[in-house]
Amino acid sequence: MTESVDVVVVGAGAMGSTTAWQLAKAGRSVAVLEQFGRLHDRGSSHGQTRVFRVSYRDRLYTALATDSIPRWRELEADAGVDLLEQSGQLDHGFAPAIDEIEASLVGGGYAYERLSPEAAAERWPALNFDTTVLYSPDGGRVFADRMVDAALAVAERFGAQLHFDTRVLAIEPDGDGVAVVTDGATYRAGTVVVSAGAWVSRFVALPEVTVTRQQPVHFAIRPGMSFPSYIHHVPDDTPGAALRFGAYGLESPGEGVKLGLETSVHTDPDEVGVVDPAITAEAIAYADQWLPGADTSQVSAVTCLFTNTPDSHFIIDRVGPMVVCSPCSGHGFKFAPEIGAITADLAMGGPRRHPEWRL
Ligand SMILES: Cc1cc2nc3c(=O)[nH]c(=O)nc-3n(C[C@H](O)[C@H](O)[C@H](O)COP(=O)(O)OP(=O)(O)OC[C@H]3O[C@@H](n4cnc5c(N)ncnc54)[C@H](O)[C@@H]3O)c2cc1C
Repeated sequence: MTESVDVVVVGAGAMGSTTAWQLAKAGRSVAVLEQFGRLHDRGSSHGQTRVFRVSYRDRLYTALATDSIPRWRELEADAGVDLLEQSGQLDHGFAPAIDEIEASLVGGGYAYERLSPEAAAERWPALNFDTTVLYSPDGGRVFADRMVDAALAVAERFGAQLHFDTRVLAIEPDGDGVAVVTDGATYRAGTVVVSAGAWVSRFVALPEVTVTRQQPVHFAIRPGMSFPSYIHHVPDDTPGAALRFGAYGLESPGEGVKLGLETSVHTDPDEVGVVDPAITAEAIAYADQWLPGADTSQVSAVTCLFTNTPDSHFIIDRVGPMVVCSPCSGHGFKFAPEIGAITADLAMGGPRRHPEWRL
C-alpha cells in the first residue's frame, strides 16, 4: 500500500509527538510512524517526570527554556491537562558552573536566590550542600508520559495519523520528496522528520553521536521531607560538562524522589535495558551522602537512553526533504513543545536555527 501525506514523522517520543502536534495544527497532513507501542519504555521519553529549568550555563538554553514556557501552556490549553509545574529548582556544586548560571539568570531577567550551604540546608533539609546554592523559582518539573500522550492526542485531533508498531525500514528519495518504507506500507511525502531518538544514526550519518544507557532510581521520601528539583554540577573535566550535570533529580508523585547519576554505559538502542545492581549501589551511596531526605532502603530503578553529542548541543537541522530532530544529551525534554514548533517550522520551509544545532 502507498499513501501520500505532507510530512512523515519517524518516532512518537517527546520530539516526534510535539512536532506532529504543531504540523497538524498548522493544517499539514501528517503520518507518525512508531516502531513500538504508544508510550513504550524502550527509548528516552518514558517515565513520570523530568526536571524543568531556566538555569543553564549556556544562555542559548536559558533563552530556549524561556521560549518553551508559553509553548508548554499552549499544549496544556490544547490538551486540557497540566504538564509544567514551576515549583522551584536548585543548582549547587562546581563553583564556575554556579557563577555562569547566575550570569544566565541575570541576563534572562530571572528572579533567583543565592544561598550559603548552611542557609540552603536549613531551608531544604532533605538535601546536603557544601557549596553556594542557587534557587530558581521558575524551574520545577514536567510530566513526561502525560506530555507525550497529550501531544499525540491533540495531533490526532488536528488530523494526524498515528501508526504504532510500525518500524521505518528505509527512507528513499522520491522526486523532490521522500518515500518512507515500512513493512506494511510506503508513505510518500514532501518532507520527513527524523525524530528517532537513539536510533537517529540509522537514518543519518552521525559518527560522533553515541548512545548510553541511563539508570535513574527512585527512593522513598522520609516522613516530613520534600524535595525541589535539583542539579548537582560536576567539574568541567567531564566531556560536554558545560551542558551536563553530575546528579539530578526531583519528586515524582507516588514514586518518591528521583536521582539520576549520569553513566557512560554505551549500548545499542535495540538492546533491551536490564537494571544493573552496581549502578543502583552507586546511587544509594550518593544519596546516603547528599540526600538525607531519601530512604535508601526503598529503591526502584529503570533504564532509559541518552543520545549524546560530544558538546551536548542539540541537532535540529534540514537537508533537502529530511529534517533531523535529535535534541537529547539528557537535557531535551524540558524544551519539547518548543522544539516541536521549531522542527515543524523547519519542515514547513522555515529557517535553519542556531549554528550549534547544525548537521
Ligand atoms: C534517564 C533520563 C533522564 C532525563 N532527565 C531529563 C530531565 O530531567 N530534563 C530534561 O529536559 N531532559 C531529560 N532527559 C532527556 C529527555 O528525556 C530526552 O531528550 C527526550 O526524551 C528525547 O526525546 P526523543 O523524542 O528524541 O527520543 P525518544 O523518546 O526515544 O523517541 C524516539 C522514537 O523513535 C522511535 N523510532 C526509532 N527508530 C524508529 C524506526 N526505524 N521506525 C519507527 N520508529 C522509530 C523510537 O521507538 C522512539 O519512540 C532525560 C533522559 C533520560 C534517559
